[in-house]
Amino acid sequence: MEYLSETKQCQNCKQDFIIEPDDFAFYEKIKVPAPTFCPECRLQRRLAFRNERSLYKRPCDMCGADIICMFSPVSPNAKRPFTVYCHNCFYSDKWDPMDYGKKYDSNKSFFEQWREIQEAIPHLGLFQQNSVNSPWINYELDDKNCYLNFGGHFNEDSAYSQYLLKSKDCIDNFWLMNSQFGYESTLSENCYKIFFSIFCFDCQDTYFSFDCKGCYNIYGCTGLRHKQNYIFNKPVSKEDFQKFIEEKRLGTYTNFLMLKKQAEDFWKSQPQRANYIDKSVSSSGNIIKDCKNCNACWNAEKTEDSKFILYGLNIKDSHDTTSVWGGEKCYDFIAGSEQLSNVRFSTSIIKSSTNIEYSHYLTNCHNCFGCINLTSKSLCILNTQYTKDEFEVLRKKIIEEMCAKPYTDSKNREYPYGEFFPYEHSPFGYNETVANQYFPLEKKEAEELGFNWNNYESETKHEFSDYQILNDIKDAGDDVLEKVLKCEISGKAFRIIPMELQFYKKFDLPLPRVSPFERHAKRLSFIKDHLKLYNRQCFGCKKPTETVYTELEFPMIYCEQCYLKETY
Ligand SMILES: [Zn+2]
Ligand SMILES: [Zn+2]
Ligand SMILES: [Zn+2]
Repeated sequence: MEYLSETKQCQNCKQDFIIEPDDFAFYEKIKVPAPTFCPECRLQRRLAFRNERSLYKRPCDMCGADIICMFSPVSPNAKRPFTVYCHNCFYSDKWDPMDYGKKYDSNKSFFEQWREIQEAIPHLGLFQQNSVNSPWINYELDDKNCYLNFGGHFNEDSAYSQYLLKSKDCIDNFWLMNSQFGYESTLSENCYKIFFSIFCFDCQDTYFSFDCKGCYNIYGCTGLRHKQNYIFNKPVSKEDFQKFIEEKRLGTYTNFLMLKKQAEDFWKSQPQRANYIDKSVSSSGNIIKDCKNCNACWNAEKTEDSKFILYGLNIKDSHDTTSVWGGEKCYDFIAGSEQLSNVRFSTSIIKSSTNIEYSHYLTNCHNCFGCINLTSKSLCILNTQYTKDEFEVLRKKIIEEMCAKPYTDSKNREYPYGEFFPYEHSPFGYNETVANQYFPLEKKEAEELGFNWNNYESETKHEFSDYQILNDIKDAGDDVLEKVLKCEISGKAFRIIPMELQFYKKFDLPLPRVSPFERHAKRLSFIKDHLKLYNRQCFGCKKPTETVYTELEFPMIYCEQCYLKETY
């Protein structure tokens, strides 16, 4: 069938957006109606259902043990606080999520019934499975000895990292894979001893480098391929490289600031690729690696025939997925991992789940609609078991009724089948969620848009120590571990943990002056500040070129062809 593109007005922001013929083909293929919210509002709405970093201490509602969890002692917009269980209680046989099931009632909207289960059922304090000695990680699987890692998988002895995968001994990174001894590095892979670098692959002993491959002993470099012993893109002897490291010690904070600025200024003075699209065919967006036919994708790797993906790895035939690893035919879905198929309008679906709609936190489930917190179940609707025939009849009926009489939220937006959950059904306040990191809003603005807001403030007040962070890491004693430090940006309290102090000492790095949250925000800004494409001119061939960088950031941007001529 031939489709024509269509302009629609977004229900939320009232801006026009275009639904392209390939979008219609996708919706037809997976049998969903076209969306009524624009791509950006869809992304913001999904992100408003994910709270990674706003963590609280409260007792487990079953065993009473003190736990760390992502649900504050008050739940915004809910009648009473959500019930939260620790990991052991949640996975014990002392309760059954099916006991919270409901028979669908045609007199009420589907979303109202879903919300009743969400408010009544116990929730898992933090999303983690199979983790060892890592009580402060969230949205992580299979981690050992990790601390404040979010959204990653299979890590060991690592801390403060976002989207860290299969890595060990890494501190403060963003989207780093298969690496060891990584620090303050972003969007890099297969690295060993990598510091303050972005877009580096198969590199070793790499400092302040940008877009380098297969290099070792490089410092302040950009666009290098298979080079050794380079400082600011100039070859030096191995001895001179070592001498440079020893003389310009990063362990002193003043040196660190100077070298960081020097490197960033150098990157600016060099040719840079307009967008990071590497080994990919027919793809648009930014930070795309080994992809095919991916449009409007940001941070996608090994992904095919997909659109509007943000943080995708091994995705096929999907639209609007965010933070999903390993899925096909998925749509409008946030947080998922491993062998997923046909998951839509859902959050946190993991481990070989298929045909899932309007569900939250399912593990190894199949054919579920409107379910919450189930493991290894099939053919369930609103946490109630059906036979295959019953399931199909009831699912069809609910969809028909969702379309005939859509749920309307407090801002008069309608949610027929084909739209994600209503804003107000997020279990979190907007200010607690990832949405606030990408689309920051003040309380008043968020509430005007119909998002929840969490007003809870912990009663714990920190006494700051008068500890002055010393310029040289060599002078820092173990006493710093006992101190409450004040973040230079937010003024909030933070601490140094033993794992990190050892790391700084081992690699001669200065103690951080800002809190882990602000360190993360700084790295995240490299992604979130580059979600728009500008029309500029290639510095080489002068052809019009789309880029995510402004003139100020990188004066010399090159189209892919010209960039490859420069670097290889
Ligand atoms: Zn919109
Ligand atoms: Zn418990
Ligand atoms: Zn060019």
